Amino acid sequence: MNNFTFFNPTRIHFGKGQIAKIKEEIPANAKVMLTYGGGSIKKNGVYDQVMDALQGYEVVEFNGIEPNPHYETLVKAIALAKKESVTYILAVGGGSVIDGSKFIAAGSVYDGDSWDIIQTSGACVEAAIPLGCVLTLPATGSEMNCGSVVTKASTKDKLSFKSAHVHPVFSILDPQTTYTLPKRQIANGAVDSFVHTVEQYITYPVNAKVPDRLAESLLLTILEDGPVALEDPTNYDARANLMWVSTMALNGTLKTGVPTDWATHMIGHELTGLYNLDHAQTLAIVIPAVWKFKKQQKREKLLQYAERVFALHQGSEEERIDLAIQKTEEFFVLMGNPTRLSAYGLGEKDIPAVQEKLILHGLVKLGEHGDITPKEAGEILKLAL
Ligand code: NAP
Ligand code: FE
Repeated sequence: MNNFTFFNPTRIHFGKGQIAKIKEEIPANAKVMLTYGGGSIKKNGVYDQVMDALQGYEVVEFNGIEPNPHYETLVKAIALAKKESVTYILAVGGGSVIDGSKFIAAGSVYDGDSWDIIQTSGACVEAAIPLGCVLTLPATGSEMNCGSVVTKASTKDKLSFKSAHVHPVFSILDPQTTYTLPKRQIANGAVDSFVHTVEQYITYPVNAKVPDRLAESLLLTILEDGPVALEDPTNYDARANLMWVSTMALNGTLKTGVPTDWATHMIGHELTGLYNLDHAQTLAIVIPAVWKFKKQQKREKLLQYAERVFALHQGSEEERIDLAIQKTEEFFVLMGNPTRLSAYGLGEKDIPAVQEKLILHGLVKLGEHGDITPKEAGEILKLAL
């Protein structure tokens, strides 16, 4: 097991009716900026519950944060937060609203050009407005981590930053808020949390039993309850399990003591930036191809995955690994996310642009061994045509 330091300061309020806890969390004299997306929260009653909890507070609203939040939109929110001297930000929505709100939180108290935050990967952030979240789409783990992904739409650059200053102070997870998710977002949530888990699990063994067995438990839960949520949208237990899975998958717990991969996420971000695929649509395409490409280096963990997650004990090692990859692809397809570029009208001609963006973004040594260069990324994408 590798050395690690673990700290997670976000308080979680989980379950039915927990949105009312907002008033216990946000100081009474705060000036709150309520941030949200395209309006799903107005249709499903979450907005009303939040406004009830915010009675008595001074509230400024900023809506219209789009999926894969745009820098161009977020700078408008920063200008408003500065003008209104906002002292607390409450993000209500999925990963895009939360990520965007992290950028707003940091950018609103940053003196220079807020794009510096992205260009320094967050290193220039010295402070941020405190952030609370009401999560409505279990997927990203953003509600309990310090990462954020922002897209500059004008140049198609999708980039991330991290800062301890934007770790949410609290997050409210009421599984009932997810009942209205369209099937496409149920699929995306299941696939994103699945891939967060395996990117911290399928690397090479270091005898770290706790994160490994936690990862296996999260994967089994997604495999069981993902299809239930698709079929039975108001199944509380399935929604609750999926919601806690997605938070646990990326709140730092799984990376305690183990190597991590992240090549799939980095290549996937370029595909979204360039071709506008949903985040998890890219992941379903890239990760099976990464495993096929890196089968020898990932051999031991792929075998462990085959045995413990899919109970594959028959056949040669090669056969078990291949079947585990196939079963993973079948699960993504069952949820609704195809595993080939061609499903989105993309082909070999679209790969060089991805490689160019990886070079531009300095993402030239990916994977747990740092040996996936843009050349290998191109080979990987060719396995996913
Ligand atoms: P999202 O982009 O936040 O939301 C997708 C869509 O779902 C939106 O149109 C939204 O509509 C809708 N929606 C959300 N909740 C809903 C509900 N309860 N009922 C009905 N519709 C609902 O999706 P996401 O997958 O959570 O976030 C993706 C972003 O997070 C990407 O940019 C990705 O790169 C990033 N990400 C971040 C991390 C991290 O650690 N920070 C990790 C992985 C991915 P409205 O806009 O109308 O609300
Ligand atoms: Fe992700």
